[in-house]
Amino acid sequence: MIDTHTHIDFKEFDDDRENVIKRFFENGGEKMINVGCDLKSSIRSYELAKNNENIFASAGIHPHDADTVDKNSLKKIEELVQHYKVIAVGEIGLDYFRNLSSQEKQIEAFKLQIELAENHNMPLIIHCRDAYNDLLDILKEYKTSNWRGVIHCFAASQKIAEEFLKLGFYIGFTGIVTYYKDKSELGNELEIYKVIKNMPLDKILIETDCPYLSPVPERGKRNEPLFVKHIAEKIAHIRNTSFKEIEKTTSENAVKLFNL
Ligand SMILES: [Zn+2]
Repeated sequence: MIDTHTHIDFKEFDDDRENVIKRFFENGGEKMINVGCDLKSSIRSYELAKNNENIFASAGIHPHDADTVDKNSLKKIEELVQHYKVIAVGEIGLDYFRNLSSQEKQIEAFKLQIELAENHNMPLIIHCRDAYNDLLDILKEYKTSNWRGVIHCFAASQKIAEEFLKLGFYIGFTGIVTYYKDKSELGNELEIYKVIKNMPLDKILIETDCPYLSPVPERGKRNEPLFVKHIAEKIAHIRNTSFKEIEKTTSENAVKLFNL
């Protein structure tokens, strides 16, 4: 299993970080990507990656902190992405749900970091909430031949998923997919089930986004990389296939996208 989106540098793991890492790698975990969301966490992610063979890092500034994107911070992100264990630019994107930075500033910060990624031929880890139309417009505007990345924590419609797939993006699923009841209990097909069922297998990634979004049956607790297995299990269940197949293909997808 590869958890493609962790935040184990966060303070929630200060007391037992080494044990959390050990638990993952001793129970089927192969690799994890610790994702930066501001300058400090990008540096911490880089440090974690530098000190652990199978931990990789991304560097980038989240839309919540778009106000902090300036020449100076971009220069530091650019220095980080040149280290071989830093394998993506992210998480970057748009968040119109919380709007912690203005939308104008978010768009500007997103574009600047896309350009940075393009200059260094890096994949993108994209965060998007309530801003899919603007985000798609920007991605279409910047589309180039070696363009690639993941739409992290996907929770939108089949139609929007198709737009991202057309642009060549991978789709990342978190514990959110485990929050819905079984289809047979509901009697009709949920949109997220439809998205997962129709997704080409070679475009699916699994991610915990820990410490947030703990999947069922751990919901309500602190999330950790090992729990990514519950997401793989749920996807296997929805697609009527085996855990092994989802585990294997999502790992292959992650290796391919991020060149791990
Ligand atoms: Zn995240």
